[in-house]
Amino acid sequence: SLSGKTAVITGSNSGIGLGVAVELAKAGADIVLNSFTDRDEDHALAESIARTHGINARYIKADMSQADDCRSLIKQAGKCDILVNNAGIQHVCPIDEFPIDKWDAIIAINMNSAFHTTAVALPMMRNAGWGRVVNIASAHGLTASPFKAAYVAAKHGVVGMTKTVALETAEQPITANAICPGYVLTPLVEAQIPDTMREYDMSREDVIKNVMLTRQPSKEFATVEQIGGTVVFLCSDAAAQITGTTISVDGGWTAL
Ligand code: NAD
Repeated sequence: SLSGKTAVITGSNSGIGLGVAVELAKAGADIVLNSFTDRDEDHALAESIARTHGINARYIKADMSQADDCRSLIKQAGKCDILVNNAGIQHVCPIDEFPIDKWDAIIAINMNSAFHTTAVALPMMRNAGWGRVVNIASAHGLTASPFKAAYVAAKHGVVGMTKTVALETAEQPITANAICPGYVLTPLVEAQIPDTMREYDMSREDVIKNVMLTRQPSKEFATVEQIGGTVVFLCSDAAAQITGTTISVDGGWTAL
């Protein structure tokens, strides 16, 4: 059980982050949810997870595109035994037309935020004598696709940083790993369907079957529960010697 541990999950009011938070709560961890908004429904989400799973949960607003916000999220959490760097955005566009502001935002949110949160969380983990850093990278942290230059660059960067964090914590009871999901049907994926339809001049069904899931031999989306379950596994004693590596949850994508 993860009872007594506190997990901070960045970008967790939706999609994979929320799924990970729920699985960690089921396993007994206290939860800090995060996004850049500060709505009643964000706080209600934390209350509902706390009530359902009998753990403590709260929501802290912090914008993962801002270095100070990333660092203050961990400081405000006060305790961070499990850090899940999950916040991420996507933009699909050929590199020669790729908007500079989108490039900068993707590098900041998808990669730099993990640097800032990890930098503040590691001393807390060392003090606590236990810690888990789990970075939600992507199959695009290991392979590439056209029109996703910033995302692929950021995710490869996260995989590299994960290895360095593992080496810097190797002699401590702390591990750092990256999970590399294939396609998971979340609002992020839903939002790129129209752009991909335009890039390839295809219908929605063709984009799902022949663009998104062509690379996923299982022909099925992975689920947020499966990603959450993989995070819980990485927090278990069985995974104590798993560090500095990636776990693909991609229906065979990276075996192709
Ligand atoms: P999503 O859009 O459903 O969720 C993204 C989360 O990040 C949301 O909670 C959003 O509020 C938050 N977020 C966005 N910008 C933020 C900011 N500036 N500050 C704080 N929070 C911010 O997307 P998702 O599919 O759940 O993606 C989650 C992570 O999983 C991302 O890092 C994504 O790259 C990765 N991933 C997703 C897939 C997939 O197929 N869905 C595949 C591989 C990797």
